[in-house]
Amino acid sequence: MAVYAAPNTDGAVVDYETRYDHYIGGEYVAPAGGQYFENPTPITGKTFTEIARGTAADIEKALDAAEGAAPAWGRTSVEARSAILLKIADRMEQNLEKIAVAEAWENGKAVRETLAADIPLAIDHFRYFAGALRAQEGGISQIDENTVAYHFHEPLGVVGQIIPWNFPILMAVWKLAPALAAGNAIVLKPAEQTPASIHLLMSIIGDLIPPGVLNIVNGFGVEAGKPLASSNRVRKVAFTGETTTGRLILQYASENIIPVTVELGGKSPNIFFDDVAAQNDAFYDKAQEGFSLFALNQGEVCTCPSRALIQSGIYDRFLGDAVERVKKIRQGNPLDTETQVGAQASNDQFEKIMSYIDIGKQEGAKVLTGGEKADLGGEFAGGYYVQPTVFEGDNKMRIFQEEIFGPVLAVTKFDDYADALKIANDTLYGLGAGVWSRDGNTAYRAGRDIQAGRVWVNNYHAYPAHAAFGGYKASGIGRENHKMMLDHYQQTKNMLVSY
Ligand code: NAD
Repeated sequence: MAVYAAPNTDGAVVDYETRYDHYIGGEYVAPAGGQYFENPTPITGKTFTEIARGTAADIEKALDAAEGAAPAWGRTSVEARSAILLKIADRMEQNLEKIAVAEAWENGKAVRETLAADIPLAIDHFRYFAGALRAQEGGISQIDENTVAYHFHEPLGVVGQIIPWNFPILMAVWKLAPALAAGNAIVLKPAEQTPASIHLLMSIIGDLIPPGVLNIVNGFGVEAGKPLASSNRVRKVAFTGETTTGRLILQYASENIIPVTVELGGKSPNIFFDDVAAQNDAFYDKAQEGFSLFALNQGEVCTCPSRALIQSGIYDRFLGDAVERVKKIRQGNPLDTETQVGAQASNDQFEKIMSYIDIGKQEGAKVLTGGEKADLGGEFAGGYYVQPTVFEGDNKMRIFQEEIFGPVLAVTKFDDYADALKIANDTLYGLGAGVWSRDGNTAYRAGRDIQAGRVWVNNYHAYPAHAAFGGYKASGIGRENHKMMLDHYQQTKNMLVSY
């Protein structure tokens, strides 16, 4: 057990700069418009640093740097790029604690998660793509007796990446690792709520990457994100964020006829069949834990299991036990390694979640636990804390249909398999889903029948680098993770050679 000191205080493992400029061409560059915005920590609500407010002029400067660096980077050998990715992973590992605390401070998430999951997963992502790159092969085929076709992978050139605030480092690395491996230069715009931990990461790994290959422009969506996503100088845009923003990104891309990846929202069902409760054993316990994972990362996870569907035979008992478990979740200072649920990432997000809690109450959903702001008092009184909340209601309600992106679970009952699948698929979204059953046939069948890009069967919330991740329906287009991402960040050239 440990409680980390707040950054920039005695004994702190992290010292933030008072200001962060853009990172362009391997240097810190002041914003063209001369403006900065304040970055508060959700832990206390107090400002801890200022961030350059990017505009189209800053994006152009970053694109200049990226275009300058792209040709040489694209020609580096596979061995050299792979070695750089491995060095980045090593450097991150040496600084794991520092990065993990920085991210908890900026985002409000529990440091136990950043130490054990977010940052180790990001490190592994670099290692995975370092290896995948070495294993990537082109192809040769004989077309006729004197013509051969060569199949080449070529970098796209300069790519734009726009990320959200819920996993600042991991969402950045999901995009950076394959794009760098594939030989592209990058302009990345972090979310306006959480740019500082990415700059801290750049201060740790920046010297390993040639100047101009990776550029970071801070700022707001319309002011900095739009000029990047709509630029005719980028050859691909990779975006993670809300479905409404994803629609705009697709519109911009259609003007420039470039590929896009849009990883968007979700309203993931977590289905518990009657046989889960046949015995009071480790499986039952694991399923109970699976239910409570709606509160992981304060519910700010695109695949948050935000709808629980429980079969009628076990409904009362399973739900009763599960709610008791939710009541025991430890909420508190995110920098305390005992804390399981910390603060929401921003005041806007806090307000949005509280408004959905009101909507749920007005719709007639029953609050089984939580349902209020969490008041931690003292230095945390100004922080953005929401109690883990469980509602019981009907799948037609807004709290079942709309993405809340907070520690708010909507629970309903189903009678049989067909009923479960109907409710599970009755959503705009198709990102994640959970299925819990001791019966292999039921579990497998449900896994196949659910319309979602990622289904966890008898587990939830694992994100290995080699498992493709992405959405069906309004949850997105394209995939992340998995070696297929190399192809997604490359052009395919086919050259027919006669001899
Ligand atoms: P958001 O769409 O508000 O913002 C995401 C990013 O887009 C930010 O960097 C923002 O500045 C930028 N942006 C906003 N408007 C823009 C515009 N017009 N042009 C270009 N860029 C613009 O999303 P958010 O609130 O930061 O993130 C939460 C959302 O992200 C949730 O819906 C969540 O489900 C989703 N998410 C999805 C995945 C996934 O893999 N599918 C992963 C994490 C989060």
